[in-house]
Amino acid sequence: TIRPRTFDNDPNLWGRALRWPADAGHKYDRGHAVILSGGASKTGAARLAANAALRAGAGLVTVFSPASAVLVHAAHLTAAMIKRCEGASELDTHLADERLNAFVLGPGFGVGAKARDAARLILEKARALVLDADGITSYADDPRALFALAREAGKKASETRLVMTPHAGEFKRLFPDLASSEGAKLEQAREAAARAHSIVVLKGRDTVIAEPGGRAAINSTGTPWLATAGTGDVLTGMIVAQLAQGTPAFEAACAGVWMHGKAAEAFGPGLIAEDLAPMLPKVFGDLA
Ligand code: AMP
Ligand code: MG
Repeated sequence: TIRPRTFDNDPNLWGRALRWPADAGHKYDRGHAVILSGGASKTGAARLAANAALRAGAGLVTVFSPASAVLVHAAHLTAAMIKRCEGASELDTHLADERLNAFVLGPGFGVGAKARDAARLILEKARALVLDADGITSYADDPRALFALAREAGKKASETRLVMTPHAGEFKRLFPDLASSEGAKLEQAREAAARAHSIVVLKGRDTVIAEPGGRAAINSTGTPWLATAGTGDVLTGMIVAQLAQGTPAFEAACAGVWMHGKAAEAFGPGLIAEDLAPMLPKVFGDLA
């Protein structure tokens, strides 16, 4: 049921990276994605990612939440599970469960040492990580610390473990010299990926996805209606679902970006972030 294929720069091929559930498959065969939530006033971002991850094919999704936000999540989430996770020691305990194979850190999470500790623990265990938003900004003062973690995680797993999804402003925080260079967006993302030992998804119109080895792709799906709050959080959920299912990081990022744009096209005008995931059944149905 997993159709391996060679990727090229034709964006319409990315949809074929999707894994279809096996006839006698089990939910654990489809991976267990974890979304790390911020506090009580910032729970929407984690919820957008969690619901998108479920729709995008993760077998199970758990939201790790500070105690202050557990009840908020419990009131709003149905198929996703919720686990209290206050900080590094609780996260470390949860990470003992090796079935938790792909993580989202950043949307609504808050900037600072707590985010850096979480990224470090996840990458030290060589789990796949989508780092976005506050997770990226938390490394603005020391990007090389993040790049070193990504390198070690990649060595340990023998494949790239970190996917970063910066918009232009976040990209500039980690790669100020590249952002101000004359280079085209494609070259900026390529250089960033090599430097960071990571998949770099440089978002915006014509999102570029680049991997450390030099392979890169430019997305052609999507509409300007995506320029609205929370759509980036949804994208992290779509990517983590592919990682949870075992798709290699570059293909996972490409497929996530592709379906995110397709969902926007399918919905049409007037889109807000929570409209995207409910369009995935149509997007997938058109591939079948
Ligand atoms: P964020 O800035 O993190 O909220 O992410 C916004 C999402 O919307 C990203 O996936 C962008 O690629 C996408 N996006 C933003 N503006 C546009 C645009 N003008 N055309 C197409 N996609 C866009
Ligand atoms: Mg964002």
